[in-house]
Amino acid sequence: MSAVEAWLAAHEAEALETLKQFCRIPSVSTDPAYQTGIRQAAAFVAGELSNAGFPAVEIIPTPGHPCVLAEWCEAPGAPTILVYGHYDVQPPDPVEKWLSPPFEPTLRNDRLYARGVSDDKGPLLIPILVAAAYRAVTGGLPLNVKVLIEGEEESGSPNFDAAVAGLKDRLVCDLVVSADGAMWRADLPSVTVASRGLVALEVTVDGAMKDLHSGRHGGSAPNPIRALTRILSSLHDAEGEVRVAGFASAALPPDPLIEAAIRGVNYDSAGYFAEIGAPQPSPLPDGVSLLTRQWLRPTLEFNGISGGYAGAGTKTVIPATASAKITCRLVPGQVPDDVVAAIRRHLEAELPTGFRLTVTQKGPGTPAFALDPALPELKVAEDILAQVLGARPLRVAMGATIPIGEVFARNLGVGTIFFSFSTSDEDYHAPNEHFRLSSFRTGQIAWARLFDHLARRV
Ligand SMILES: [Zn+2]
Repeated sequence: MSAVEAWLAAHEAEALETLKQFCRIPSVSTDPAYQTGIRQAAAFVAGELSNAGFPAVEIIPTPGHPCVLAEWCEAPGAPTILVYGHYDVQPPDPVEKWLSPPFEPTLRNDRLYARGVSDDKGPLLIPILVAAAYRAVTGGLPLNVKVLIEGEEESGSPNFDAAVAGLKDRLVCDLVVSADGAMWRADLPSVTVASRGLVALEVTVDGAMKDLHSGRHGGSAPNPIRALTRILSSLHDAEGEVRVAGFASAALPPDPLIEAAIRGVNYDSAGYFAEIGAPQPSPLPDGVSLLTRQWLRPTLEFNGISGGYAGAGTKTVIPATASAKITCRLVPGQVPDDVVAAIRRHLEAELPTGFRLTVTQKGPGTPAFALDPALPELKVAEDILAQVLGARPLRVAMGATIPIGEVFARNLGVGTIFFSFSTSDEDYHAPNEHFRLSSFRTGQIAWARLFDHLARRV
């Protein structure tokens, strides 16, 4: 054990107290009623960074909630990393389902229960504690460290891209290390190296200029629900594969190590359908193809459909309009605008005559993120995880969208390594969120080694 690790072990009780204080602050970003909590949490993070020894700490306003930026760059010649995390949390609702109050951190079974403790207050506090340990033991950091902590991650980071673009010159670094982004499974060490992108659109079909009586006009007037369902059903084949020309033609092949991980984990597809409470398809798809679809394939999903009368009873109407909301998860290589253009071309070609079609893209979308599989720092992180977790981590992808990797790549031209010590079973976003104290300890050792090993890569 290094002197820094010994110092961290000797100060475990204080570290836990600090985490509890942090978790008592109700920093819910989505609800304006928690404004005070947001301000307090930003100030708390800034205070901890100053206490740890960061010479420059600043609260950066955005049109929404502020970011906290800290810089400690006094290791000439050593690499510079940028640590990312977020101080905001999900709403605690439903509060009655909590066994202890969400903002009163409570220890049970070597786990700390509180809203935000696993996502992301515990994980983000770890690198700050490690910086404090380095200062106490060696007088400074072995490498240059910048820290950027945002306050709107749980409400979609609406101002983060612009904030990073605006701070571009100050955020220059060799690598981003994210303290956010949980491990896939508690029983399997993993490192997330890819996440799918997202683009949203709305499709509207119009017929007559107003709603019509289905007796007087039925059989002669255009029915937009009929046309809409017809064109929507042409987007997939019977097995659910997207059959839109050009939809995925730009997709790049995935990291072969992710494919190897998918083959290696024995994903239980029957268990999957039982867990989501859906009837089992027959024949049952094998686990490899299910996980491949969740992680590595683009999707086109209908999220909502509306038109005509959907209230109680019946109404004899031919509606004037019908529409559907669609989102697509994207894989690396796919460009959001091009995907929407391909879908528009397909729908226009399928539309029966006598209808008007409008396809509207909602927002710019987010391209997928994929880390360069050959990035040397990725191997450094994997070696450290293997040491502290006792098994080589799997390289996994994520079906959901984590925009930060793509935001940092585009604005700063660097990769992002996800180095979080929360696990996906810790009920973040749900009642009784908790963080394992063992992960809090292991995370400190791992981050201490990460600083040390990255510093030696000059
Ligand atoms: Zn998070």
